[in-house]
Amino acid sequence: MAELVQRYLDDLVAEYAEVSDGALADYIPELTQVDPSGFGLTLSSSDGFLYESGDARTEFTIQSISKPFTYALALDQVGEEAVDAKIGVEPSGEAFNEISVDDKTKTPKNPMINAGAIASVALVPAAGPDERFAKIRDFYSACAGRPLEFDEDVYRSEKATGSRNRAIAYMLDSFGVLADDPDEVLDVYFRQCSLRVTSADLARMGATLARGGVNPQTGRRVTSTRVVQRTLSVMVTCGMYNAAGDWVSAVGMPAKSGVGGGIVAVVPGRLTLCVWSPALDPQGNSLLGLKALELFAGKTGLSIF
Ligand code: GLN
Repeated sequence: MAELVQRYLDDLVAEYAEVSDGALADYIPELTQVDPSGFGLTLSSSDGFLYESGDARTEFTIQSISKPFTYALALDQVGEEAVDAKIGVEPSGEAFNEISVDDKTKTPKNPMINAGAIASVALVPAAGPDERFAKIRDFYSACAGRPLEFDEDVYRSEKATGSRNRAIAYMLDSFGVLADDPDEVLDVYFRQCSLRVTSADLARMGATLARGGVNPQTGRRVTSTRVVQRTLSVMVTCGMYNAAGDWVSAVGMPAKSGVGGGIVAVVPGRLTLCVWSPALDPQGNSLLGLKALELFAGKTGLSIF
């Protein structure tokens, strides 16, 4: 069985080795420094065994794949009621960086778009931005099973060009969504997006969700099953932004993408697959990542539906 899985991943990598569609994200200038032909795949079984192929150990920035994990941390620390008062759970059907809130509640529609992710950061209790970032980094690291490093260049690049996110943070502040200074909250958001991961790290982080909050490699419980259930639900409906409907019908797994080129897809109780390929489609999702995951779901019949 192990050999079959490995061969299957190697075949997927070989199939996409020559394909060069899509484009690197360039609104964060530093992201154009990445080799667009990188392609890595990691599958974690539910007991934490990893199958890897291609550039599975190449580091890239986590970007929006951070969002479900900070949302989970906020739920874990302050509870559902406090989180729900500030962030909805409805798909927005909009781009990830839309400057928007829900018409009635004046809170972000969901935690997977930037507005909701910035609100999640502010919900993590801390005495200041450094403590808040340390808590976030520790939580991701506990899910990954190793201490994650931070990419100073990508962080500076995003901070220098992040007017759109600044607009979102100030809009949220004007609606009373952020309990702290918007610039400080945003700075932590930029830092969390700049944490460096490999597809193997993301497979482990996803596996921690697949196992209901227990990291299968370290055996450590990092959060509760209730927190994970909520997080995975929001990933199903909102994780792929305005491509969420296509994704659910074609692949049918809770997932999250990031403009660094990663996509992590979770089959609760069974496995996690992470693909990294930095060339993106117009929605900001890894183009080959989508194709590979569609093929995988089609072949294995692992859609949760
Ligand atoms: N840091 C990025 C941003 O806020 C994350 C976006 C993404 O990965 N979709 O624009």
